[in-house]
Amino acid sequence: MVKFGKQLDTPLGIFGGTFDPIHNGHIFPILEAAKITNINKIALTPCYIPSHKNAATASSQQRLIMAQEVSKDYPIFYPEPLDINRKKPTFSIDTLRELRVKHPNTPLCFFIGSDSLFSIFKWHEWEALFELCHFIVCFRSGNVVDKLVSSHENEVMLKNLLMQRQVEDPMNLHQKLAGHIYIANTSPLNISSSAIRTLLSNNQSIENLVPASVNQYLQQYKLYQQGSKL
Ligand code: ATP
Repeated sequence: MVKFGKQLDTPLGIFGGTFDPIHNGHIFPILEAAKITNINKIALTPCYIPSHKNAATASSQQRLIMAQEVSKDYPIFYPEPLDINRKKPTFSIDTLRELRVKHPNTPLCFFIGSDSLFSIFKWHEWEALFELCHFIVCFRSGNVVDKLVSSHENEVMLKNLLMQRQVEDPMNLHQKLAGHIYIANTSPLNISSSAIRTLLSNNQSIENLVPASVNQYLQQYKLYQQGSKL
């Protein structure tokens, strides 16, 4: 793609989260959105310490191992330990700055669920994020973005943000380094890490909610189960 006469590289996807644990509600919508947007490489980036919520239950290393398992199952992903390796609380913007230095000529596309779009104004240096990456939004839990925008306390801010930045054609993400929002029409999957932790702590099955490899790891180390030593 040509921008000011310069060829841009194929976009790199980034998917960051607590991943405590990683689940199919993370993986399938992102795979669907990656297909729509023609992105074929995605950094799976577990955070060291979540900035928006309580500390993770599983260790950074365990959450990284689960990201490694998923990357073996779905080679579009690769585990990116940038955030974990800093070993101190940092923010998505720090990871994006590092990735921008590593990939100066690559559009960076940060995948998020629609719930994260609605809390974007709380992200550290949120405005600067748009100088570093595009956002690709996946639907979560059957919520329609229009409906949520109109019922959200940040309605005006969100509407303005989308007016300025939303693009309808995913090819726009390939033609500029950063700055767009693309809402991908993905099928919502009502799965969350917290629900999985609750099921496991009650010794209930989580089959079909996580990949078999992750389930095996969770069972092997009895993660999130009552009496388990994390
Ligand atoms: P928890 O239940 O502990 O709050 P979570 O399931 O929301 O965790 P996170 O690791 O916090 O998982 O989420 C990382 C990213 O994945 C966020 O952008 C979030 O919006 C997105 N995400 C999580 N679950 C889904 C889902 N079922 N569908 C679409 N996006 C999701």
